[in-house]
Amino acid sequence: MLRECCLSHRNKFSQLQNHKKIVTRFAPSPTGFLHIGGARTALFNALFAKAHGGQFKLRIEDTDRARSTHESIKAILEGLSWLGLEWDRDVVSQFKRTDRHRTVVQTLIDQGAAFKCYLTPEQTQALRHQVFTDGRALRSPWRDKDPSEAPQSTDFTVRFRAPGTDVALIDEVQGGVRWAGKEFDDLVLLRADSTPTYNLAVVVDDHDMGVNHIIRGDDHLVNAARQSQIYAALGWKTPVFAHIPLIHGPDGKKLSKRQDAVSVGAYRDMGYLASGLRNYLLRLGWSKGDQEYFTDAEMLESFDLKGLGKAPSRLDLNKMNSVNAWHMKRTDDAQLTDLLWSRLENRNDLRTDDQAKAWVLSGMRVLKERASTLAELEEQTYFLLRSRPIEMTGKLAKVLEGDAKARMRRLTEVLRKTLDWTETALDHVLDKFAKDEGVGFGKVGQPLRVALTGGAPAPNISFVLAVLKRKEVLERLKDVID
Ligand code: GLU
Repeated sequence: MLRECCLSHRNKFSQLQNHKKIVTRFAPSPTGFLHIGGARTALFNALFAKAHGGQFKLRIEDTDRARSTHESIKAILEGLSWLGLEWDRDVVSQFKRTDRHRTVVQTLIDQGAAFKCYLTPEQTQALRHQVFTDGRALRSPWRDKDPSEAPQSTDFTVRFRAPGTDVALIDEVQGGVRWAGKEFDDLVLLRADSTPTYNLAVVVDDHDMGVNHIIRGDDHLVNAARQSQIYAALGWKTPVFAHIPLIHGPDGKKLSKRQDAVSVGAYRDMGYLASGLRNYLLRLGWSKGDQEYFTDAEMLESFDLKGLGKAPSRLDLNKMNSVNAWHMKRTDDAQLTDLLWSRLENRNDLRTDDQAKAWVLSGMRVLKERASTLAELEEQTYFLLRSRPIEMTGKLAKVLEGDAKARMRRLTEVLRKTLDWTETALDHVLDKFAKDEGVGFGKVGQPLRVALTGGAPAPNISFVLAVLKRKEVLERLKDVID
């Protein structure tokens, strides 16, 4: 049915649409940044919804008031926007829905599916200890008591009356999963301060938001069992679940904030393009044949739940670089130049004026082939961005000593008269000049490269001349000759 449609190939697409609109969501708890694993979860949910003409919604699970600061929430929204993941409708605040959560809890009490539990914290602790020793799940004595026995003016929690029957789920990634019902506690739904707990709030919110497909980390798998019990008690349809393995570090261990780059912002700062990161994250836990590189259109076209992998995936920076390099090459030169410029904003040791930007833009076609990240691209453009006179020390200055200086002076005269200032024409001019001088090309190319780039990485020297144009080339040469 619905699940089969989703699982099967997209030729069932129209059937699926007629059946029901797909609604997915991303439901992060604010931690101060958008976690790379969260970003992948968001991507999968967004792709799945968009691929089926559905909706991708965003809910911030901001019930932990201390952590849910304005900045912390903003960081998540900015991370998602940077990554190009747009959500439909307003962002839902879980905290603001507390009244609704309480109403649903009351419904559960009225139906007998939940009950008020008057155990004091000390009694709860003692009971917890006891059931742990006995190896059974926690069952509150209040589940069977008459409410009239309730002590006056005492705090209470509301607990779910654990049904005790086994729970079976078909997860789109994990397959059929089964839990023994007797292992589940009488779950607290409402704390003594009357705040709702995670499992209750998630079910109510997902239901009210119309969410019918949930892709999330497999650390929530057991929650799916508890949540499905709550769905059943409320007579609501349980969504389709797909629990994906977490992302591990390059060492195969769990990602650690101390050792690994875990925030989307860190990857942005390392110079990955949003499109590159989307592609990399897509492949980190999802596959279709052995295709590595995906445009956005191809992602939408290909994404399905079937391709989600069961094995934990490892971050691999080399792979990330090669995916990003592919996207760099496909990115429009002007757009890449603008992206680079936003990275250079605070560099006052480099030229960032319009002239410098025009040089970078005119060389971008070649420069972008030599870089897999914006950080590498930045290095590739330094030779264009140095202010004159370019500082030259030690070994570099030596290259320009003796014969070299006089040769550069003669070359200046040749270049002054060169009319065809294209890379190919300049190649010939330099070759001919070396021949006329009776020296190998190195004796010309090396000092010229030093004079023009100050030793910064640069492609072929004729390209450097062509991009800088005659006026700047002659001025940089003059700086070293004088
Ligand atoms: N807020 C939870 C988290 O950040 C996710 C809850 C869910 O996806 O059900 O891990």
